[in-house]
Amino acid sequence: MSDLIRKITIPVKTDFVAVSSYGASTRSSGIVRILKDLDESVEGKHLLIVEDIVDTGLTLKYLVENLSSRRPASIKVCTLMDKPARREVQIVPDYTGFQIPDKFVVGFGLDYAERYRNLPFIGVLKPEIYSK
Ligand code: 5GP
Repeated sequence: MSDLIRKITIPVKTDFVAVSSYGASTRSSGIVRILKDLDESVEGKHLLIVEDIVDTGLTLKYLVENLSSRRPASIKVCTLMDKPARREVQIVPDYTGFQIPDKFVVGFGLDYAERYRNLPFIGVLKPEIYSK
């Protein structure tokens, strides 16, 4: 997010919503919890949802539906990574950094059970770490 906004040259505001669908697992439960909602109203505003990774698409579908109901002027979706092989719902990000294979990745802000976010690169988590 911080890398992205440094490249945006038009006036922009940022706000954060924290959602969780995984807990300490590597598979989406399909149940999305809002842990922290937006601080400001998005009514009448042009929204760009910035995601780390789209996997099954369940989280993004929920977010798009939830934010659409708040009557923004438009909604687009940007994601650093996309794993299209695992998609369970029809949703295509408007902007994608990288398409990646069906591997569980960590680092560069992405976690597994709140660990590894600090890695300065994106790596594939060894399956033996999460299959115990
Ligand atoms: P979805 O609902 O599309 O299955 O999952 C989206 C969310 O699950 C992402 O925003 C991310 O938090 C998490 N997620 C999906 N795939 C991965 C992955 O490979 N690594 C990590 N660390 N999180 C993932």
